[in-house]
Amino acid sequence: MTCIDYISRLPEAGELPFPRTLVLLGATGSIGTSALAVIEAHPDKFRVLGLAGARNVERLARQAARHRPPFLAVLDEERAAALKSLLPAGYAPEILTGPAGYATIAALPAAQVVLSAMVGAAGLESTLAAVQAGKVVALANKESLVLAGDLIRAAARASGAVILPVDSEHNALFQAMAGHGSHALRRLILTASGGPFRDKDRAFLDAVTPAQALKHPNWSMGAKISIDSATLMNKGLEVIEACHLYGLPVEMVDVLVHPQSIVHSLAEFEDGSQLAHLGPPDMRIAIAYCLAHPHRLALDNATLSLASLGSLTFATPDVEKFPCLQLAMDAAAVMTASGSPTEHGHAAGNGACVVLNAANEVAVAAFLDGRCRFLDIARLVEAAVASWRRTGPFGPLDLQAILTLDADARALAARCLDLLPACLPTGMPE
Ligand code: NDP
Ligand code: MG
Repeated sequence: MTCIDYISRLPEAGELPFPRTLVLLGATGSIGTSALAVIEAHPDKFRVLGLAGARNVERLARQAARHRPPFLAVLDEERAAALKSLLPAGYAPEILTGPAGYATIAALPAAQVVLSAMVGAAGLESTLAAVQAGKVVALANKESLVLAGDLIRAAARASGAVILPVDSEHNALFQAMAGHGSHALRRLILTASGGPFRDKDRAFLDAVTPAQALKHPNWSMGAKISIDSATLMNKGLEVIEACHLYGLPVEMVDVLVHPQSIVHSLAEFEDGSQLAHLGPPDMRIAIAYCLAHPHRLALDNATLSLASLGSLTFATPDVEKFPCLQLAMDAAAVMTASGSPTEHGHAAGNGACVVLNAANEVAVAAFLDGRCRFLDIARLVEAAVASWRRTGPFGPLDLQAILTLDADARALAARCLDLLPACLPTGMPE
């Protein structure tokens, strides 16, 4: 029998009164702008204390002019100066910069809820800062759990932070499992749309262009997660995310292809019951659920009509065609080999997951720049993880060791990239 060991203490009903004071990390991205749409639809419920972006200072300036938070953060001093010049007269927030600035804004004493929605490993340190400061963390940045789930679990236990999953599958599971804290769980089933190339063959995949890969059939998302959805690496990262959120070995997390993206995930219990969460593919639902938890906010989305849809379909994922999913499941298996995390983290450590994520970020950026082909993404990740299997480091890693391994794996992936044959996708200038 497996009891659910959620990553943080579960939030108590009505703990945080409204209006809640929010900091949004990754405010200028897809999740960040959807979060602001939720906040703007419920102005009596939220106060924006801080907004962090990176390079899109024009968008950040517009958001800041509307919400007037006393704190902003951007990537560097140059962007800070540009941002300052775009702000309305009479409004002079404190502008923080770089990873240290992001960590500061994430841990502001007055912040009650922190949305972690930066993309990639860049979100790790600010997420950890928010968790260490004991915040309610609405977590979209799945990469921070992939890199450092054990550290985040330990930090949440120490600080009393509450982690609420924004990722739609994990949010679905969180909702489906509400009230089942001590019941026996058999497995979690993460649904996957299958991405834009679900029905395509390998020859097609070999010639895929960035523009084709960016066109997700159901969701509108940032570039990196859109490519991850096309390779199914996103689902692999989500399997690792689920292992950390619920303290489960990878054998208890399954993936089910569901092209309509209506059933967002399912939890199966020992009596054979499967509890699912359904809804339209709209990230505002998961975001609002986290920002207002345990309350629900009204949203102006279309009502889901199952009668109009007529049928929902499901299939097993094809890991031969989409090897990134298998690579991520293998990395999760290395990490969770010793079962649920102990007080000191997973005994086998998360080195494989760190390397997998780093190589994937390098490969996705290269694919988007036309420097490698779609199928090279999996090849680069596989090469990097194979190298780690020979050299380690093995065992639990602290933050510094994770950051070092991340940097080393990026350097290795960049070298592998240079060794690829001339490889621009068909249809792009040679
Ligand atoms: P976007 O690419 O749309 O936005 C990314 C955000 O991160 C932007 O605000 C960007 O700033 C900021 N950013 C980029 N680089 C850095 C950096 N080096 N340091 C700090 N901030 C940086 O991504 P999404 O909103 O799509 O995704 C964000 C996270 O949420 C990802 O981890 C993703 O996996 C997860 N997620 C997203 C979903 C979605 O529907 N979009 C669904 C589920 C999870 P700027 O633009 O100003 O440069
Ligand atoms: Mg998801």
